Amino acid sequence: MLEIYNLTEEDLINYFISINEKPFRARQIISWIYRQKVKDFALMTDIKKEVRDKLNNDLRFSDLSLVTKNVSNDGTIKFLFKLNDDNLIETVLMSQEYGYSVCVTSQVGCNMGCAFCASGLKKKKRDLETFEMVLQILKVEELANIKVSHVVVMGIGEPFDNYLNVTNFLKIINHPLGLEIGQRHLTVSTCGLVPKIYEFAVFPLQVNLAISLHAPNDELRSSLMPINKKYPLNELFKALNYYYSKTNRRITIEYILINDVNDTIKEALELANLLKGLNAYVNLIPYNEVLENPFNRSKKEHQRLFYDTLKKKGINVTLRKEQGSDISAACGQLRSKFLDNGR
Ligand code: SAH
Repeated sequence: MLEIYNLTEEDLINYFISINEKPFRARQIISWIYRQKVKDFALMTDIKKEVRDKLNNDLRFSDLSLVTKNVSNDGTIKFLFKLNDDNLIETVLMSQEYGYSVCVTSQVGCNMGCAFCASGLKKKKRDLETFEMVLQILKVEELANIKVSHVVVMGIGEPFDNYLNVTNFLKIINHPLGLEIGQRHLTVSTCGLVPKIYEFAVFPLQVNLAISLHAPNDELRSSLMPINKKYPLNELFKALNYYYSKTNRRITIEYILINDVNDTIKEALELANLLKGLNAYVNLIPYNEVLENPFNRSKKEHQRLFYDTLKKKGINVTLRKEQGSDISAACGQLRSKFLDNGR
């Protein structure tokens, strides 16, 4: 049995060819399952009965089960879902001025081991399959009764450590006959897996790339993010320049502000220097505190000073307003709490 939400248009076409059916059936199916939200082949009335029976034998509609849901006072909703194998994942729905944005999980746990991150507290158990990411969107739309307009792959996991499943997911949710989430409304965030940045530079969809930078020099970055020992800043920036040369798309640089660790004027000036010449946009994010580690959120005046310093140096920068911190919406926190508090 194949998971139907795993299949891109190309996969569906190949499947239909393999059963001696016309390739255009792929587009019919996409429309049925993502537009009409039909989960039963019997209802697909423009497809012959014998083909529907065959589909029923070969393809399966899986589901996610909702374990719990937390609603923040700013409207952010965090969903905890259980997968078929009982693993737990988080998905966050944020309401923005421009629409509804969903933060998707890409792996069960994460192996990147960033010192400040709650996700890394639980080692990676496995990659998510494409259908498990697609279902996060479908379930959130169904449960909250909304249409998702933006997706960020910034939940638990390192998306570029699950590259094929994540890029197939992007193709599926972008499909014009399906969920039709615009390519420029899709963002993938990575801690900096350099070889995959080169690969992503030639990925056919115009998806946004965000880099979790968090430090402007190798010493500090390696102490916070082990991946920097493998791919130090000069290699990362070589890849980013290549990415820009291929795509012409501005790169988002994420920088969490941790009190007295990376939030002084010294780091702001270093960061401005590092970003010189790169078409980048810096998103400053006040750190969400995690019980299990010693880091604290940057003080308001540090945040302001850091922002002003970058601004004065001509860097495009925003200081992100926080959402959902009262419901542990920071990466991995809900799942982590849930696993620790016993199931
Ligand atoms: N692995 C990917 C995507 C998941 S993390 C990446 O590293 O980009 C999504 C973002 O949240 C990253 O920028 C990550 O560094 C940041 N993050 C992790 N823990 C955080 C915390 N406690 N507070 C604020 N941001 C956090």
